[in-house]
Amino acid sequence: MCGIVGYIGNQDAKEILLKGLEKLEYRGYDSAGIAVRDNSQVHVFKAKGRIADLRAVVDASVSANTGIGHTRWATHGVPSHDNAHPHQSTAGRFTLVHNGVIENYSILKREYLEGTAFVSETDTEVIVQLIEKFANEGMETEEAFRQTLKLLKGSYALALLDEQNDETIFVAKNKSPLLVGTGSDFNVVASDAMAMLQVTDQYVELMDKEMVIVTKNDVTIKTLDGTVVERSPYKAELDASDIEKGTYPHYMLKEIDEQPLVIRKIIQKYQDEQGSLQIDQNILDAVTSSDRVYIIACGTSYHAGLVGKQLLEQMAKIPVEVHVASEFGYNMPLLPEKPLFIFISQSGETADSRAVLVAVKELGHKALTITNVQGSTLSREADYTLLLHAGPEIAVASTKAYTAQIAVLSILAHVAAASKGEAESMNLVKELGIVANAMEVLCDSKEEMDYIAREYLSFTRNAFFIGRGIDYYVGLEGALKLKEISYIQAEGFAGGELKHGTIALIEEGTPVVAIATQENVNLSIRGNVKEVAARGANPCIISMKGLDTDEDRFVIPAVHDLLSPLVSVVPLQLIAYYAALHRDCDVDKPRNLAKSVTVE
Ligand code: GLU
Repeated sequence: MCGIVGYIGNQDAKEILLKGLEKLEYRGYDSAGIAVRDNSQVHVFKAKGRIADLRAVVDASVSANTGIGHTRWATHGVPSHDNAHPHQSTAGRFTLVHNGVIENYSILKREYLEGTAFVSETDTEVIVQLIEKFANEGMETEEAFRQTLKLLKGSYALALLDEQNDETIFVAKNKSPLLVGTGSDFNVVASDAMAMLQVTDQYVELMDKEMVIVTKNDVTIKTLDGTVVERSPYKAELDASDIEKGTYPHYMLKEIDEQPLVIRKIIQKYQDEQGSLQIDQNILDAVTSSDRVYIIACGTSYHAGLVGKQLLEQMAKIPVEVHVASEFGYNMPLLPEKPLFIFISQSGETADSRAVLVAVKELGHKALTITNVQGSTLSREADYTLLLHAGPEIAVASTKAYTAQIAVLSILAHVAAASKGEAESMNLVKELGIVANAMEVLCDSKEEMDYIAREYLSFTRNAFFIGRGIDYYVGLEGALKLKEISYIQAEGFAGGELKHGTIALIEEGTPVVAIATQENVNLSIRGNVKEVAARGANPCIISMKGLDTDEDRFVIPAVHDLLSPLVSVVPLQLIAYYAALHRDCDVDKPRNLAKSVTVE
């Protein structure tokens, strides 16, 4: 996690870095810092808290054209001024920002840095101290940097300043994302192109274990053995307005409202000229020739994967298992002869998923990544990619990426079914169109959702979400949304499972949100509602038109039952949003979380 920026050129580096960090704040926001150099020295400014807190301590009178910056999501050491990046070496010659985790930092400390006084508790400080140690032993900075990189085990994106060299930012990457942006008479460094879109849309991708010498007019990429690598920049296809909130109070609300548009865009992107849905033939071959599909994901993407399993199994008749990435890494099940792995990750940088991708590639298996970010690590390293086309998602709690993931999975399942000769279960283009319209109706029901959030969740300490089958998966996502941003302890359960233990937690007034969109389990889920109500719960039934009864609190428009999660999740997203607002929580940047989880 965390965001890194760097600038070297002729303009005011401070402002460019601060603006860049503001755009990266979704990646980490417990502390932040910048280091800028004027004609004579490097000045470091740091603050615990948000970029706004950092802005307040930056000395406006320092005039600098070079600098690096960091917004942190702490892994080693509490969020504090001392642990905030940039970190400096003891003599102050080197200044470093780091995204990632150095797994062997305590071994390196013991073996190489006996006697060095450390200021912070971070793993990062070891890196900058090692560079200074090697420089003190007579190495040029580039060499000292390279020697240090060779010793590091773990993940890093690094940007380094040397006080004795005012013309260079030294950069390196392994497993954590980092890009170099190019311009005329300046160059930049960023964890995400979004940060530096203010100055350039031209970016050069970096590969793991590469280091880069960035000057005002040059970008030289080298491998760790010193070989120069040539790589041309690409144009970042991002619209600056996509990353602004516009008139919305929060990104999350904007992103919820964008969902109908995203569904329509996905239909269009996956349609050929005749209007039929298409998937790259190589991907189709990989899916239809596999004897079992393994969906690997984390958090919200995992919940989308559970829905994807239903879609692939029911439409394309392909057996699917869905696994939490962090568990799969240690607990790999017995695999069949021809498994296909599908990785789902909004950012394409999720470290837990990437660890599995690396492991299954080593075993020689094929992998497909479904992601929102073209060129992201998981996309580059898998054999195939399907893009979500959801536009940048900035709120930490995922909304439009979840529905986009399900929509893309439905298209994959539909086209795979057709290529296997399975009977067509629906006209998917038409049904997704109905979904987009239904989402619009729900986005227009904000007042009602606000009311439900107030009525059920204002004063509660916990809440349960129940459903059966596909509704259960949506319940898991509804519970995750609520806990992420409102800090209400919320859990999703299969309707029938509650009575096997959790029902003991039901007290007078405990909110239980029941999702009822599936005809085959409609009576059973309503039976579960009666069970909890009999024990004092305050049930809130969200049903689908056609299956609704008088006891329902909210009825969503009718859509195809396999696609219902795309629609039934919208009220749950909105309820979570309003519950968080009523509790005065920071909706877009909930505590302890960050958007792309780039550490394992
Ligand atoms: N491991 C480093 C720290 O704890 C960097 C964390 C980050 O990526 O923000 O400070």
